[in-house]
Amino acid sequence: MSSKEQDVAGFHSRHDRLLKERVHDPYMTRSKPKEPSVCPQCGVVFDEGRWQWQPAPPVGASEELCPACQRIRDKVPAGFLTLSGEFFQQHREEILNLVRNKVEEQRAQHPLKRVMAIEEQEDGSCVISFTEMHLPQSVGEAVEHAYKGELEITYPEEGSLVRAAWRR
Ligand SMILES: [Zn+2]
Repeated sequence: MSSKEQDVAGFHSRHDRLLKERVHDPYMTRSKPKEPSVCPQCGVVFDEGRWQWQPAPPVGASEELCPACQRIRDKVPAGFLTLSGEFFQQHREEILNLVRNKVEEQRAQHPLKRVMAIEEQEDGSCVISFTEMHLPQSVGEAVEHAYKGELEITYPEEGSLVRAAWRR
């Protein structure tokens, strides 16, 4: 990462295109579930070509583990957000609450967007892993919007692991 700043600036302007064109989530494209299907783990329903929350599983639905629960089972995140710095240490719970609220808000609309794990590192920073590749950016931006600080995002050219890091 010698020209990191340049990379970050360049990627910011074209990351959406990159994500659309070049990054395929293997957990999304692996197989097409039967319709309707219900995830036995979280209850999300696959119907009309997408995973969605429904009040109750449709009658006669097949069972199929959804892509988010598959990632959680396999311990294969789609992306990471690292939170670090002195300010973070002092406001840890408050900032992590914002993260949880932001993800919950997203999950209500997009069922496959979830936190996989929040891991405390020895140096006091936190690494949050997600089931979905747009979350590191949107959650990182929510933290940056609320608390300033510095956000860096690395988008993959190939593969699907997005890394974001916020520091203050
Ligand atoms: Zn599920």
